Amino acid sequence: MTAVPTATCAGPLARVSGCDTQVPLVGGGSCTYANFDYAASAPALAQVTDRLQELLPFYASVHRGAGYASRVSTDAYESARGSVERFVGTDTDQVVVFTRNTTDSLNLLATCVPGDVVVLDIEHHANLLPWKNSRIVEAADTVVDTVARIENELAAAPAALLAVTGASNVTGEVLPIAELTEIAHRHGARILVDGAQLTPHRRVHLAETGVDYLAFSGHKLYAPFGAGVLVGRRDWLDAAEPYLAGGGAVREVTLDETVWAQAPARHEAGSPNVLGVAALAAACDALAALDFEQVVEHERVLASRLADGLAEIDGVHLLRLWADAPDTVGIVTFTIDGHEPGQIAAYLSAEHGIGVRDGRFCAHPVLNRIGLAGGAVRASLGLGTGSEDVERLIAAVRQLADGRATWNYGKTDGLWNPVPETRGFSTGTAGAAECV
Ligand code: PMP
Repeated sequence: MTAVPTATCAGPLARVSGCDTQVPLVGGGSCTYANFDYAASAPALAQVTDRLQELLPFYASVHRGAGYASRVSTDAYESARGSVERFVGTDTDQVVVFTRNTTDSLNLLATCVPGDVVVLDIEHHANLLPWKNSRIVEAADTVVDTVARIENELAAAPAALLAVTGASNVTGEVLPIAELTEIAHRHGARILVDGAQLTPHRRVHLAETGVDYLAFSGHKLYAPFGAGVLVGRRDWLDAAEPYLAGGGAVREVTLDETVWAQAPARHEAGSPNVLGVAALAAACDALAALDFEQVVEHERVLASRLADGLAEIDGVHLLRLWADAPDTVGIVTFTIDGHEPGQIAAYLSAEHGIGVRDGRFCAHPVLNRIGLAGGAVRASLGLGTGSEDVERLIAAVRQLADGRATWNYGKTDGLWNPVPETRGFSTGTAGAAECV
């Protein structure tokens, strides 16, 4: 009988869910789950789960009821905008629109942009596919040259927006956002930062850097309850067609005419996800209260040890996009000679209770360009990760690279699994999607 995990437990820097979760191992026994998949979805912070416990008894309709619970829910929803504003340091003309996730935020902004959008080819599909008039710049081998290529593209023809990731979801490498903002503005463009990977790990300050738009997801920010955010300059958002047509986005409706509300309501039609938004706000408040120098240092020490430990193993290759990235969030991506990424991930899970991500990370163009069409393995960490987790991962990879795996693995319908699978999954597969 495996132990029932407590709701949250003490990680090195914060209380998070799942850090004492026991998971079964193939062939019997169990161990504490080692979560190295924060970049896909991070565990919930204790402040987030506490906030939801507090709010649930008052869960009711938002904006539509005079009952006390409705008022509490409406207050939770509307005051969440302030938490986001404080967390990302908004400028006076910036507005917070709640969405489902980063993908939703970028699709919303794509309906508002009055012109071309310049993007890098290293972007997550969420920051590649929504733009209607995109001009794609191939990233160079260095950040310096990549920035120069972006500047050339902006200088070559007018663009309305430069849309860049704050940190690569493939390697965690960070782009120089303040510099790119200055360049975009100098060429008459605005800048959108895809903050999905950056905001959980680095302080972002919109007013100080001049960034015009920022998108991020609650589930990567320790608030896994289905809300996301688009923060940005009001004028484009007010001028655009409502993202969804329906109740809540309007001021007045007759059968002949609709008077739409301004942002944020304009783009938030329908009953909102008040619990997700309250969770996101609680995460913003909790992260804003943390000493980020300590967070950055904690992740830097763990990620460096992980990268160094893996690099020492024969046959392991670390993946980097640039030789000169100014900073990297807690992501280490690698391949092992002679092993498909899916097999490595299946082995780490089955024999060691370690969760990583494998595949092309919804960034097919760049993985294909750098010769990794078969994908790679991504280990990502955060507030609940400890050095013992890192040592476990290094030791497990060494064991596999040395040919000391103890189980067999096979591929069915493109997915690797232990053969036989003894852990009692009803589907018998690891799941169908290779994304995030
Ligand atoms: N951008 C980046 C850089 C990401 O890492 C992700 C998720 N992996 C997304 C966008 C999309 O986020 P979501 O799935 O929450 O919409």
